[in-house]
Amino acid sequence: MNTAIIGGGAAGMFAACNINTFHPCHTITVFEKKPQFLSKVKISGGGRCNLTHASASVADLLKSYPRGANSLKKVFHQFSHQQTMQWFESRGLRLVVQDDGCVFPASQNAMSVVNLLMKHALINKVRLQPSSEIVALIPIGNGFELHLKDREKAVYFDRVIVTTGGIPSLSGFDWLKASGHEIIPPAPSLFTFKLEGNAITSLSGNVVNPVRVSIAGTHFTANGPLLITHWGMSGPAILKLSAFGARHLYEKKYCFKIRVNWTGILNEEDVRHQLNSIRKRDVTRKVVNSRPEGLPSRLWEYLLVTTGISEDQKWDQIGNKSLNQLANRICNDEYTVSGKTTFREEFVTSGGISLQCVNMSTLESKVCPGLYFAGEVLDIDGLTGGFNLQAAWSTGYVASMMQ
Ligand SMILES: Cc1cc2nc3c(=O)[nH]c(=O)nc-3n(C[C@H](O)[C@H](O)[C@H](O)COP(=O)(O)OP(=O)(O)OC[C@H]3O[C@@H](n4cnc5c(N)ncnc54)[C@H](O)[C@@H]3O)c2cc1C
Repeated sequence: MNTAIIGGGAAGMFAACNINTFHPCHTITVFEKKPQFLSKVKISGGGRCNLTHASASVADLLKSYPRGANSLKKVFHQFSHQQTMQWFESRGLRLVVQDDGCVFPASQNAMSVVNLLMKHALINKVRLQPSSEIVALIPIGNGFELHLKDREKAVYFDRVIVTTGGIPSLSGFDWLKASGHEIIPPAPSLFTFKLEGNAITSLSGNVVNPVRVSIAGTHFTANGPLLITHWGMSGPAILKLSAFGARHLYEKKYCFKIRVNWTGILNEEDVRHQLNSIRKRDVTRKVVNSRPEGLPSRLWEYLLVTTGISEDQKWDQIGNKSLNQLANRICNDEYTVSGKTTFREEFVTSGGISLQCVNMSTLESKVCPGLYFAGEVLDIDGLTGGFNLQAAWSTGYVASMMQ
């Protein structure tokens, strides 16, 4: 058997390192269009490579996939995050788990992951073909003809695993057209929100934790820390919201309204009670000097000003109307988002090969037997925290079984 892997990234190289375990007689060739393999892994996690997440269980892990969670269940039950850690550790890569569950190599250097995978590909006699872009895949008989850029002669393979990663445009899938798969149009996920010219940006650098953010008029909501930046809003809560709302926001061309509950968990009624208690307790104190627990002082000052309460006003000068307005502001603070920016550390593409076309127990195409898919090329994406690489390792592993 002659097997080709198209794309030498995380999923492709992981598949290449494992095929021999299941199929010792296969010859394996990895075609990579760039001169180097694993280039995204090299820069992942800011160069430290957050290679997975130490979630308590597979059920827990699945909560971090806005798209594909149901289908991934079948994949993770065959090769989970725990097995991933074991795979790397048993091959000599020491790992560390941070308090937030993110897993990194103990070296804090992504090159340890890259070097280990490259070493194992060589041990397994994988043929590595850098600077080799596949421009067409044609199903022929029981196999496939692959056409390479700038090369006249096509090459024939019995089995093919496609691991070309996130492709940002629909036309980027043209080379796969002949195989007849449905493509879910790509849309970015994991981005931050631009609030051009909004006064809140004057609080740049403040972190409020926890907040609850939601996209107005939808069910999309997320909890966690929010970072106010000079361009708008960022931080885990915003990234999570951007990921779950990715397709909706793409359709809205990134112009939409968000609501922020600055307390995270309290509702308006609770906050009104809290403000009332402060008013009774701090009668003659300036409002600006006594605030509900958890709100940073600069945010409190901002919320007061934007509700029309001056910095000289004392609590006994605050009537019920102002108090209600303030409670509403704290719980339902609305902002108009005017665009997106890309998260500096990690961004992924939602969309790709429709999961309807793939048998998710084997990752073999239902349309084209002998053709497999793994990694971000599938309509699967995760939150930040090691979930995207985990999906790449697990799908790469299951595809390598080629059942
Ligand atoms: C800056 C950054 C940081 C990130 N950090 C993290 C992190 O810390 N943790 C985490 O979990 N996720 C992280 N991610 C996401 C994660 O890197 C990806 O989800 C993951 O690499 C996907 O693996 P993949 O193998 O599917 O695709 P890729 O790793 O993108 O590999 C696909 C490969 O296919 C090649 N290719 C494409 N088309 C062709 C073709 N026609 N012929 C031949 N070769 C082709 C590409 O050149 C590429 O090398 C990060 C992403 C970015 C951009």
